[in-house]
Amino acid sequence: MWEFTSPRTIVFGEEALEYLKELEGKRAFIVSGRSVSKLGITSRVEDSLLEAGMEVRVFDQVEPEPSVDTVTKGAKSMLEFCPDWIVGLGGGSSMDAAKAMWILYERPDMEVAMINPLERLGLRKKSRLLCIPTTSGSGSEATWATIITDPEGKVKMELPSREAVPDIVILDPFLPSLMPPALTAQTGMDVLTHSVEAYASQWRNDFSDAFAIKAIRLVFGYLPEAYRNGRSILAREKMHNASTMAGWAFSNSQVGIAHAMGHSLGALFKISHGRCVGIFLPYSVEYSALEVKDRYVEIAEAIGVEYANDDEALEGLLEAMKNLKRLIGEPDSIRNAGIPEDEFDAALDGLVDRAMTSAVTSVCPRIPSADDYRKLFTCAFVGERISF
Ligand SMILES: [Zn+2]
Repeated sequence: MWEFTSPRTIVFGEEALEYLKELEGKRAFIVSGRSVSKLGITSRVEDSLLEAGMEVRVFDQVEPEPSVDTVTKGAKSMLEFCPDWIVGLGGGSSMDAAKAMWILYERPDMEVAMINPLERLGLRKKSRLLCIPTTSGSGSEATWATIITDPEGKVKMELPSREAVPDIVILDPFLPSLMPPALTAQTGMDVLTHSVEAYASQWRNDFSDAFAIKAIRLVFGYLPEAYRNGRSILAREKMHNASTMAGWAFSNSQVGIAHAMGHSLGALFKISHGRCVGIFLPYSVEYSALEVKDRYVEIAEAIGVEYANDDEALEGLLEAMKNLKRLIGEPDSIRNAGIPEDEFDAALDGLVDRAMTSAVTSVCPRIPSADDYRKLFTCAFVGERISF
């Protein structure tokens, strides 16, 4: 038996934000970060909700990689205000914080660390969750994952609950059109990595496949244009839709070793999540092809690679990934991301240890040993092909 979880309503396309003006409810609580407020997005959302006849309270203090402290503060404010709508507005951090605050608001008897997939939360007695992503990357609007940093700031707690999948998602292409090119490129690589890894995972299924393969096609088709011409509403809309589809896919399948390695690298060096996983994606594909070459052949086929046999298809896919990265200015190795060799060498043991303890390692298509991880990191540092 398998359960596919998804948001109930997806509102997408130009002017999707207009949907807010007709949302029915009494009190809406917006959760966002300062940068989104500075761009004027929070006030625009607030105005629309006021026009819908609601009272609105704004909590715009969510930091990147939100802490338990922030979540507790937001939940306390919700308990005073008694909203019947929670609006998560921003990138993955704001949406994740909104999910966690909402859970504590509904269940004041709980603490953040108690959230887990086996706990019956009984949400939606007080309010529902609406998410509005402003970047096209994390896919958090479609997933049941909630990532919050522990009080010491060292551990990212993954707090999954199927009940925390939003009720409504609004995908307005105007919002990601405000992203600068570098952020567009990095978040775009995250979308591609989510969908390729979901498509190859041991937990893949017919439903996750459908969203993953479409997301992959959209990324190859539209990411270069979204990067080159940020105001292209068509490219922004396609990437925004792809991001949600990729979130849907990996939330109902799983990511793989590019994420295990990417989380490791991101914990030890100041490199964004999207750039980290994007660096490791081709290496992980080449490594995993020993077990799931057929899956990569299907991806190659979907993006229009011409090939005479499976090996050519795999080469064509790797070449297409390389070309995509070149077009959007993303590095193809850890060294080219600006990490000096001595710092990498000093961190290597820690990188391997962290990747080995990642939860996704056990369900990826080819499970690496510590020695394999060491070789993978080393190849990805210098930009060497995988031959083991
Ligand atoms: Zn990711």
